[in-house]
Amino acid sequence: MSNPGIVYLVGAGPGDPGLMTRRSLELIAQADAILYDRLIPPGALDGARTDAELTYVGKEPGNAAMGQEEIGERLVALGLDGKRVVRLKGGDPFVFGRGGEEAEALRAAGVTFEIVPGVTAGVAAPAYAGIPVTHRDAASAVAFVTGHEDPAKAESALDAEGLARFPGTLVFYMGVKNLPPIADGLIAAGRDPAEPAAVIRRGTYPDQQTVTGTLADIAERVSDAGLKAPAITLVGPAAALRETLAWVERRPLHGKRVAVTRARAQASGLAVRLRELGAEVVETPAIRIEPRPVEGEIASALDAIGDYSLICVTSPNGAALLFDALAERGLDARSLAGATVAAIGPGTARELERRGVRADVIPPRSVAESLVEALAEIPVEGKRALIARAVEARDVLPDALRDRGAKVDVIGLYETVVEPLSDDRRSALADVDYVTFTSASTVRNLLGSLGDRQDALDRARVVSIGPVTSAEARELGVEVAVEAERHDIGGLVDALVEDATR
Ligand code: SAH
Repeated sequence: MSNPGIVYLVGAGPGDPGLMTRRSLELIAQADAILYDRLIPPGALDGARTDAELTYVGKEPGNAAMGQEEIGERLVALGLDGKRVVRLKGGDPFVFGRGGEEAEALRAAGVTFEIVPGVTAGVAAPAYAGIPVTHRDAASAVAFVTGHEDPAKAESALDAEGLARFPGTLVFYMGVKNLPPIADGLIAAGRDPAEPAAVIRRGTYPDQQTVTGTLADIAERVSDAGLKAPAITLVGPAAALRETLAWVERRPLHGKRVAVTRARAQASGLAVRLRELGAEVVETPAIRIEPRPVEGEIASALDAIGDYSLICVTSPNGAALLFDALAERGLDARSLAGATVAAIGPGTARELERRGVRADVIPPRSVAESLVEALAEIPVEGKRALIARAVEARDVLPDALRDRGAKVDVIGLYETVVEPLSDDRRSALADVDYVTFTSASTVRNLLGSLGDRQDALDRARVVSIGPVTSAEARELGVEVAVEAERHDIGGLVDALVEDATR
């Protein structure tokens, strides 16, 4: 066999993308073909090759995209065809994931396979609800049980008496619909009706819900709360620990929906921080960064980079693109060695630092006017100055430097263009608690895409990164509820948290 195929049965974890294993991400990135289920984390396939064949084989309750046997046959066929295949499943592939059956089919056909365990929902959902499935005092054993079967039915493989006697935590998968007969069956078989119980729906997702009670009343409480699948049901003294150990709900932005309007490529830093604080992030990018071709004036400026005695960079994108373009010409940070380097704010300074340059000047406020003031002490008369920025930026800085006798070249390294808003994103926006704006152009472009449907912003509190962004919003008729004191992402997040926890 010259090119033997291999099938990886991979667990994608319970839903929080951060709980995917490093191995799962590596394999997804390499796969020729991926067959995936319904309950996999959002964005799980983002790292897949663009030419990978992605096939949804999920089983909605009562409606399978592909039968189990067919999935097995498909895996075998791809494996025999020499492909690297990822079979991606929610949670762990060998815990109620039918991974065992698929592995059997592969072994029978002589196809090589590997198993990549995942974080299983039966442990993770309770953990996110503040419930340890074992505990020195409360539970010295844990059982994973299918709730798919009604234990009272004669043909059920479940042993109600055995489960009632089990000395520890019972964790039921797939058991919401059958909760009433399960609870009744356990009580009838002798389990204490007063025993603590909990049901956790969509554990580890931002909209995770938990209902607690006792074995006697949990079914009724769950039905009152309208809780539906997917959910994990826990029975045992450990369930009571939630009262002391609940932590998800304590995060400062828990339950808050926050829209991020930055360009998708830049959004991740802000989105990650908001998620860490417990927010549900809705990405509604208003703009997209479009680098301009490095030719003409830009090319001449870069070729003469050593001639500038002052180099001003007015956005993190500008910093990144400047260094990308220098690298293309075989240059690096040393080409700026003789110049004074000014960054408009801490975000830009950070990007410069990542590229090996510590900015000499960073103004107290991240606006051009403030940078002009901060540069007052730097001699510029008769000297050459370079400004690396967005095409559409204001001319405050070049005008001020020219007034002081500098020979200024402005290179517009990128344009920010409107990213059209889909109907889905627009409705999602109408349902958020906060909308964050990180630049005047995000405000302008988002409002542009909303057109006459600006009422989509009515419900949300608007958070602005600084005065220029706020002014743009007000000018366009948008009320700014919160303005950051520090005009960078960290400052914006701090201001939002302060508002949310007031
Ligand atoms: N292999 C998966 C389980 C698949 S069975 C694992 O190891 O987690 C599907 C059941 O898993 C659902 O009916 C539900 O009981 C449970 N489940 C999966 N994801 C869940 C989540 N995020 N929160 C709560 N339960 C979940």
